[in-house]
Amino acid sequence: MPWSWKLARIAGIDVYVHATFFMVIAWIALIYWNQSHSVAAVAEGVGFILALFGCVVLHEFGHALTAARYGIRTRDITLLPIGGVARLERIPDVPLQELWVALAGPAVNFVIAILLFAWLQASGVWQSVDRIGVTTGAFLERVMVANVLLAGFNLLPAFPMDGGRALRAFLATRMEYTRATQWAALVGQGMAILFGFIGLQGNPMLIFIALFVWIG
Ligand code: ZN
Repeated sequence: MPWSWKLARIAGIDVYVHATFFMVIAWIALIYWNQSHSVAAVAEGVGFILALFGCVVLHEFGHALTAARYGIRTRDITLLPIGGVARLERIPDVPLQELWVALAGPAVNFVIAILLFAWLQASGVWQSVDRIGVTTGAFLERVMVANVLLAGFNLLPAFPMDGGRALRAFLATRMEYTRATQWAALVGQGMAILFGFIGLQGNPMLIFIALFVWIG
């Protein structure tokens, strides 16, 4: 991808970061600075975003390493502000393999969330659940919540989300591949309309997701 820099090479896969990603980091830093005028708050805000994208990288490696088990190589992984993209050499021919590859990413985020939950419980720094959100609560609790949201968002049964691929792969185990793709696309469009409609009642985030899904 143009405007990307190589960050690292992990397990034989080049990890790139896109230039716009740095713009997001600068933007977040600016927001925190304007709110607090404190370097510590800026560091925590930026640190949270970096931790989140660390989890996104692990998510993409979930796809890549599962694909590798089926003999499919990953060309590279690129970090964009909207998430990560793992470019697989090809889609698995066997629907069941495609299903596992699609589900492996969100599964990684669930595992991270469960591990953080266990650690927070064991170490006794857990705060009451009603105080946790993406913007409130202790750092690791927020990372945990964000991982649950990441997994949930990616499991929405619509392209380009993992859930859309998983749905197509599941349908392809019982019908022809092109028909499975059509059905999965139809479900995705239906969901986009539903989200758009609910979004119009006052949730702009849902309209954004609806557009994203519709284009996908
Ligand atoms: Zn994914």
